[in-house]
Parts: sequence; C-alpha cells; structure tokens
Amino acid sequence: MRYQNTYAHLDPRLYHKQPPTPLKNPRVGHFNRQVAEQLGWTDDADLMARWVDILGGHYVPEDFEPLAMAYAGHQFGQWAGQLGDGRGLLMAQVLDNHDTLQDLHLKGIGLTPYSRMGDGRAVLRSTIREYLCGHALNQLDIPSSNALGFVVSDTPVRRERMEPGAALMRVADSHIRLGHIEWIASFAPDLLAEFTNYMIDTYYPECRDSDKPVLAFLQKVVERTARMIADWQLIGFAHGVMNTDNLSITGSTLDFGPFGFMERFNPAWINNHSDHTGRYAYQNQPAIGYWNLNVWLPHFMRLTEAGVTKEALADCLAPYEATFMQHYQQGLCRKLGLPHQPDSLKLAFEFLSLLEDNLLDYTNSFRALLGLIDSESYAYEKQLLTAIVNELPPEALSAFQDWRKRYLAQIETLPKEEVLDSLKNNNPVYVLRNSMAQRAITAAEQGQFEEVERLYQLLANPYNVQDIATDLDSSVPAADAPQTPISCSS
Ligand code: AMP
Ligand code: MG
Repeated sequence: MRYQNTYAHLDPRLYHKQPPTPLKNPRVGHFNRQVAEQLGWTDDADLMARWVDILGGHYVPEDFEPLAMAYAGHQFGQWAGQLGDGRGLLMAQVLDNHDTLQDLHLKGIGLTPYSRMGDGRAVLRSTIREYLCGHALNQLDIPSSNALGFVVSDTPVRRERMEPGAALMRVADSHIRLGHIEWIASFAPDLLAEFTNYMIDTYYPECRDSDKPVLAFLQKVVERTARMIADWQLIGFAHGVMNTDNLSITGSTLDFGPFGFMERFNPAWINNHSDHTGRYAYQNQPAIGYWNLNVWLPHFMRLTEAGVTKEALADCLAPYEATFMQHYQQGLCRKLGLPHQPDSLKLAFEFLSLLEDNLLDYTNSFRALLGLIDSESYAYEKQLLTAIVNELPPEALSAFQDWRKRYLAQIETLPKEEVLDSLKNNNPVYVLRNSMAQRAITAAEQGQFEEVERLYQLLANPYNVQDIATDLDSSVPAADAPQTPISCSS
C-alpha cells in the first residue's frame, strides 16, 4: 500500500499515539475484497495473510502509526466538550488506486484517553450494521465511509445484555469531523490556521487556486454537506445521530449507529429510539445540516488574515439551502424519469403525498413506477405495483389512477429508453432494511456469517433484481407493526 500517514505528524496535542488492545480470539466476520483492491491491500501478502490478526489488534504492521484523534462536538444540540476516538484508532493513511487519500480506522479496539465512561469496544450487532450500510451507500453512489472487513471475537461486551465484541476496519476519505475544529477552538486555538491549511492541502487542494482559499474551502464543505444530505433524503436514509462529531469535513457519510432506511413513508419518522424529541427525524436532516454548519463556521472568525469576516462566513453558508434544493429536486425528477422542471416537481410531490397518506413503502413504490411503463420487462416491478394498488383504499386508488394518467401523459412525450434508464438507475430494488440487517446479526451471533455475505452481494448491485434475493429483502412491515428498536447503544 502507498502509505501517507500525514495526520500522525501534525501537532501532538491533536491525538494520542497508542497500539490497539487485542480482542480475544478474533475470527473472520467478512472481508471486503473490493475495498482491499482499491487500497492496494491485496498486493501485500503479509497484510492478506494476517488481516484477522490486524483487525483483532494482535499485529500492527510496521507502516501503521496508530493514534486516537481528539475532537469535540455538539450532541443533540448541546455542547458536549471533549470527545475524541474513544474506541477507535486511525491506523494508517494510504493513497488508493484513484490517488485519493483513505484513512484506515479500526473501531472497537480498546480504551483510549478519550474513552470517557465507555469500554472502548464495539459489539457485533452494530459492527455488522455499520459494515453493511457503508457498503450499501457506496454501491448506491452516496459519499460514505466503507470498510475493509470486520472480525468477531470472544471478548464479552456489556450493553443491555452481554454481546460478542467485534472490530471493524473502517475506510473513509477522512476522519476529520466538524467537531475537530470545535476541539481546536476550545483547547488549542493556536492550531487553527495550521490545521485549516492541512485540511485544504489534503482534501480541498483546488481551493488554493482561489484568492481566499479558506473561504473557498468553507464554501465547499457547505456545498458537499448539502449534497450529501440531499442524497440521503432521496434514498430515504436517516442517519439517526447527526451530532457535529459525526459529520465529516469531506461531506461523506460517517458514523453509522441508529441509522435506518425509510420503509412506510412518513417524513416525521424517527429511527433512533434514543432521540426522544425527534431532533434527527428524517425530515429534519436538511435543517440539522444547516444548524451544524452554523455552529461550526464562526470558529474560523479567528482567521482574519485569511479574509474571514462575519459577512464572508454568512456568504459561505447562504447557498446551503439552494444547493440542497437543487440537488434534491433534480434527484426527485430523476426518480420519476422526468426532466427537472416545475410540472415534474408537482408530480413528484403529489406522488410523495400519496405515499405519505397511505403509508406506502418508499423504496418499493418508487421502483414500482417501472411497472407502469408499457414494456415486456420489469415483471418484478409490475408485481410491486399490483401489491401497492391492492393495498390502496378506494378514494386513494382513484387519486392514484388520476396521478398515473397525468404521469404517463408526461412520460409519453419523452424517449422511452431514457425514462426507463432513469427510473432503473435512481430507484434501488434493495436497501438495507432494519429487518434485513437484524436477520444477518441473529445468524452471525450464532456463528453463521452466510447471511452477511448474501446481503453484501445483494447490496453490491442494488439497482438490479437478483436471484439471491428472497421475498424478505423487499417485504414491508405491517403498517401497525412496532418498529424494530434501534438505539444509540453500540
Ligand atoms: P458515537 O455516538 O458512536 O458517535 O460516539 C460518541 C463519542 O462516544 C465518541 O467520542 C466515541 O468515541 C465515544 N464512544 C462511543 N461508544 C464508546 C465506547 N463503547 N467506549 C468508548 N468510547 C465510546
Ligand atoms: Mg461518533
């Protein structure tokens, strides 16, 4: 691998260098060959032979420089002070086969100075959820961390019950969170300029072409965050815990805990059962992204020499809403196979209202649009459509028939193949429903990892109907079924 451990050479106040604390008897959970190839991991016989030892904390390759990062954050809207890597270590940074710098971060690997009251461990349940979700989002083309693999172990970990300890080698284009700047502002303000330069040079070098690189960088962070959240809304993803310590400065999805994919469409849906006020409800995500950036940006006021003023920061944040709206609305039109224009949007919002009024499944309903188009193919989608139509009460059915007539009239004016491609490539067949992850977890807790492998394969190709799928992969919970409890506990 092409190591480039730059973080380990920044000011030592920013981290604590230490090795991982080994897990007892680590064993194979799953290995992501695609990510391994991307990193160049597969070219190194030693890494390939000893990956379980490495992920289990028994062996630290010579080129790794493990460290726990310090950061801070606002959690559920409150200043939480110092946080930091309490159970994960940045193990190494490498240039991948696209020359993009990637962090290898081992999560679940023991106590650090930032562990606070925690035990430094991660349970198998949350490790599998993070592993499959990072993979799912990557394959859906949504910026996100991914993982090289995970191991399970005999180290017992206490949560609501005793659970097996596990470790995940997370791979992300950065582990610098908005909360890093909050930490610097509180605990080492003299580092702000140097650290900002590091972020620009490492992650946003194109901003050096601007006459005010710091402002250009901040604008880019705002833009990427807005786009990432638009991607989440379009796919029906709720992150669950959008604290400032869980948002990356690269606009990549980071830190999977109580996340979920929307099933029966309800904009006010709260997946995280620890979120009693619904702060991180699905429909609040765009506003929370803005809130987070709004508490983050003022820290850069210190950089007066870089041209940062209150007004300039307001100008950086101002485009957030328009960027989000543009990306979201374009995406919504693509999900209908229509051009981005007002009458398409009207149809899209009416469709969402139909889903909401009748609690229809978000993923299946969008995919079922393919079943409306006169075509020999798409038998699966026609079945989905039939199931949805059968579920509708009479008034809703006539509203749907009316909508369908107007939708098909629009479609008729467009090249059919383009419409089909757009529908097919923007509406996945498979997302990681909580129930799917749960089945894989239950089996894995009995030592069976075949279901993790099957879901890995299924989610590798989310836009195609697959033979390895079962009805459960697209089945929708009953409208009155209690939600699977998903909490912050991990
Ligand atoms: P999270 O809710 O996973 O984003 O974590 C918030 C903070 O708590 C971070 O500083 C984590 O490193 C820390 N943390 C979470 N779980 C543990 C744990 N089991 N042991 C130590 N620190 C933890
Ligand atoms: Mg976190």
